[in-house]
Amino acid sequence: MSDYVIKCMYFDHRFKEKPQGKQCGWVQKSLTQVNITIKNLADALCHGASFKPAVLVGGNKAENWTEQQLFGLDFDNGIKIEEVYNKVILLGITPCFMYTTFCHKEDHHKFRMIFCNDTVITDGSIRDKLQATLMGIIGGIDEVCFNRDRLFFGGKGQVVLHPDYEARINAEFIIEKYWNDDFEQYISNAKPKSKKKNKTAASSKSKDKVGTDKEYQPHENLNVKAIKEHDVEYLRKVLAHDPIEFENKNEFWDYIYSELDIGELIDIDNPKSFCCVLHEDRNPSANIFITQNGIQKYRCCSENLTLNIKQLIEILGDFKSEYKATQFIMDIYNLSIKESQWSIEQRENIDLMISNITLNENPNPLAMLGRIE
Ligand SMILES: [Zn+2]
Repeated sequence: MSDYVIKCMYFDHRFKEKPQGKQCGWVQKSLTQVNITIKNLADALCHGASFKPAVLVGGNKAENWTEQQLFGLDFDNGIKIEEVYNKVILLGITPCFMYTTFCHKEDHHKFRMIFCNDTVITDGSIRDKLQATLMGIIGGIDEVCFNRDRLFFGGKGQVVLHPDYEARINAEFIIEKYWNDDFEQYISNAKPKSKKKNKTAASSKSKDKVGTDKEYQPHENLNVKAIKEHDVEYLRKVLAHDPIEFENKNEFWDYIYSELDIGELIDIDNPKSFCCVLHEDRNPSANIFITQNGIQKYRCCSENLTLNIKQLIEILGDFKSEYKATQFIMDIYNLSIKESQWSIEQRENIDLMISNITLNENPNPLAMLGRIE
């Protein structure tokens, strides 16, 4: 039993500190499907390796989910390791192991708890229900760990906590015993479902004029509408991007241009050909492609425009300054940049200058300032 292997997505690079910026993209790209014993996985994670509990095929997103046996919970709100462990044992749900994350401190515990189901789950709805039930009954869990494509970094704790590699949970039992309709919120807040709703609307728009979606107008692309209305809250929800802090602006922009998916942002099913979102378009005249440098671009053939993701957002959102557009991108994707006090002051100065210049109605304030990024 102890050499029993499970499947998951795994990357063996042992980080000494929490991966930042570019490294996050590198981890995402480097994850591969492995067969690994739970003991080896536990050892690797507490020495800095990374994994996704699910098995994803053909891509790294929630929609690529195919099966899952491991389930992970993320605790970072300050609840103590022993408190959570005692709670799950009382509930009769024994984890295989726990480990502390890179940011764990003695006075603020941050850790993960990993469970193994007794069978491989291939039904996505059972998977979602089990994940939501675990989160709901235990409580105090970071909600972003719901997602099917959730990536878990390891930590530097070196020691596996509460190892019990042969412990198994049973999805049917847990759901039957503990499911509560309130837990539905985790499922409906998560990306796959809200995205699917949008997709239904988007595809009925392109195929025929009769929308079947009850909640939404068939012609409306809700993501594009949200960009136009600067609806940060909505976009944050549907994009469901894990927070990343970048060391500097270069790393930030590298990530923005090469890692963010324009098709996902504007909710397009077929990036090779779709109706342009910049104007009325009856015949598909737009596409998304990747340049030789790995940068995603939006192409509008009818107006002969080629835009990167930032330019697309600037135009759609009609942002009055580059700074505001950048801030919007950071907000909707949950991104931040470590800044020295000096650069924060610089930014405040620039912001002030921009608002002064805007008041003077200069047609192109940014040209006067040079690049502010
Ligand atoms: Zn166009």
